Amino acid sequence: MTCDALELSLNDWEILFSKWNSPRFRAAQVCQWIYAKKVFNYHDMTNLSKDLRTKLTESVLMTLPVLIKQQTSKDGTKKFLWLLADGNKIESVLLNHGGHKTACISSQAGCPLACSFCETGANGFKRNLTRGEILGQFLMMEKINGADINNIVFMGMGEPLLNEENVFASIRALNDKNMRNLGARHITISTSGIVPGIEDLANFEIPLRLSLSLHATNDELRSKLMPVNEKYPLSKLISALKFYREKTGERITIEYALIDRINDDVEYAYEMAALLDGLQPYINLIPFNPIPSRPELKRSNEARIKDFCRALSELKIEFELRKERGTDIAAACGQLAANS
Ligand code: SAH
Ligand code: SF4
Repeated sequence: MTCDALELSLNDWEILFSKWNSPRFRAAQVCQWIYAKKVFNYHDMTNLSKDLRTKLTESVLMTLPVLIKQQTSKDGTKKFLWLLADGNKIESVLLNHGGHKTACISSQAGCPLACSFCETGANGFKRNLTRGEILGQFLMMEKINGADINNIVFMGMGEPLLNEENVFASIRALNDKNMRNLGARHITISTSGIVPGIEDLANFEIPLRLSLSLHATNDELRSKLMPVNEKYPLSKLISALKFYREKTGERITIEYALIDRINDDVEYAYEMAALLDGLQPYINLIPFNPIPSRPELKRSNEARIKDFCRALSELKIEFELRKERGTDIAAACGQLAANS
């Protein structure tokens, strides 16, 4: 029987070694090589016997995404295009904020949710990524980077909470002390508002960070921009966020991309304050990144952004105006299409 290394949990490795009558600690040793040292060739795992290395080579595949293109933005952002075993392509991004690195990874090939401002959505949905494909992007980026990357955000292609099982399994591996040992506070899931997924996250054993892509403050506009809102309207979404907030005690980040004359009127800042009352969120205002499929959508101009920010300040809502990253290589939020 063959299986794939990145699809295995620590427990799966332990079961495998016990079947081979090898000691249990071999599982942690192999995981250290893969997840901590980024050694993907069993023959280089020098604290294992030659026999064991051969056995591993014969029975546990090591499938990693194949890098087919790498681009570097003038601001230092890097974009990676990967080829998966079945021919699908996905992208990941490595952000660099003054030496502080963040990997932005994909959870699906494409996305089924078709938000009107997002290039990933415009290109349709292929399939969910496996847990190994999610982890593979990150481990390969760390290997190429030559050093650990200590932050990970599920903000690449796809909706992570529509691929919950594999996303949660990948997070368990990232967080496991014997695997990647990445702190829960360094892992962020961004969702367009999948209510049952948010409820599951509230009950998830690893206290990671949650980011909610809001982009509109009433159902009419939000359903127009984000069709997912028809299934999970704002009333249900806000209840789920409140449940998450109460259950975990965590502050939620709200993503809001300012699109010229679509959602950037000052009145929406007031609507936002009313909608999010009691939630004590942190707002990330992101500059809208232009996408080829919707040339009519423009980034808000500076005056409108300023007015919107002033209103939020007056309303005593905590926010940050984000800088654009990687737009010159189409690596910014919403620009990932994996079709280059
Ligand atoms: N599907 C998840 C995560 C991936 S999208 C989600 O929607 O949250 C990552 C972020 O990029 C989300 O906040 C999304 O709303 C935002 N985004 C999508 N298209 C964008 C665009 N053209 N400009 C700015 N942000 C965009
Ligand atoms: Fe999918 Fe997120 Fe893009 Fe919407 S913004 S289409 S949910 S990837």
